[in-house]
Amino acid sequence: MERRMRRRRPGRKKPKALAVGAAIMLALLGAAGLFFALRGQPSALERLKAAQLPAWVDVQIIEVDGASRRGVPLDELNGIVVHYVGNPGTSAQQNHDFFAGPDSEVSSHFIIGLDGEVIQCVPLDEKSSASNERNRDTISIEVCHPDESGAFSEASYAALVELTAWLCQSTGLGGEAVIRHYDVTGKLCPLYYVEHEDAWLRFKEDVAARVSA
Ligand SMILES: [Zn+2]
Repeated sequence: MERRMRRRRPGRKKPKALAVGAAIMLALLGAAGLFFALRGQPSALERLKAAQLPAWVDVQIIEVDGASRRGVPLDELNGIVVHYVGNPGTSAQQNHDFFAGPDSEVSSHFIIGLDGEVIQCVPLDEKSSASNERNRDTISIEVCHPDESGAFSEASYAALVELTAWLCQSTGLGGEAVIRHYDVTGKLCPLYYVEHEDAWLRFKEDVAARVSA
């Protein structure tokens, strides 16, 4: 009886079968779309590798020495770490030359000087030696400062905003990826921006404004 009734009303079955078929089709298309979207999306690191470095970056890559520069590729790219050099009044060039010298076991990708000059020391697809366990997946920026307070000069600050915004734009990383050395290890670095949380938050706002400009 049941069978007969079903056979007599095949019209009810067809739309249902069509709907199920359509749903399966849509699900498959969705899965395929997601697969290709994920596969086709370049990573932050791939995007950075392909980016055109701004003309205001003075590229002075230090030699591979097994310490300051180990020549080891970044595992991935998830963050940008801001530091202060901790040596008041020193220039970007002096800090670069220290990284390049035999007494250093540290380095950063970039150093920003007191006049806003930017020197690159380590290739952007390699690990620097600045941010402890986050060397594996971050770009590091050291900033020079005029005095013991660790506050950046106006020119250094402006260059830091510009460089950080360029890194965010080039990699697709968001504001949450911009952190202090302090946020990795609790070290008081960059000192002024650990002691003055408001100044750090203002910096992040300035970067966000520059990115969306
Ligand atoms: Zn630091």
